[in-house]
Amino acid sequence: MRLVHSRDTGPEKIVRTLLHGLGFRFRLHRKDLPGNPDIVLPKYSTVVFVHGCFWHRHAGCPRATTPAVNQEYWLPKFERTVKRDRRNVSELQRQGWHVIVVWECELRDRERLAKRLKEAIGRPRRFDSIDMPSLQMAAEPAKPYEGAKDER
Ligand code: ZN
Repeated sequence: MRLVHSRDTGPEKIVRTLLHGLGFRFRLHRKDLPGNPDIVLPKYSTVVFVHGCFWHRHAGCPRATTPAVNQEYWLPKFERTVKRDRRNVSELQRQGWHVIVVWECELRDRERLAKRLKEAIGRPRRFDSIDMPSLQMAAEPAKPYEGAKDER
């Protein structure tokens, strides 16, 4: 079979196996949610994205390199990805989802990742929380939620 869907291989599969081992049950790729999260844990109102450090620009990560040539191609592409990710996270949070981002480089230490996932998923959460190591994503400063100023 030639048509192997890339999402069902590699990093995402490792995270699914980890979660399964921790006793969490989940659904995959809910097409009706912003950004089509890789893993959805309905019981915990939690979604998990498994992001490649290069494409999704893991801040401060050695894997988030910028190619030296063709920067006029790469830079706008990176910027679009980061903005889209941020938009998806905001929209998911607006809908009441707890968002967890797993970076590909975290898979090197699976014990540590399993611990982080267990804590992040089981933890009581604030509406606007996001579990993601080193949150400063490149492009622009995060904007406060615009409806917030009207709340008393
Ligand atoms: Zn990374």
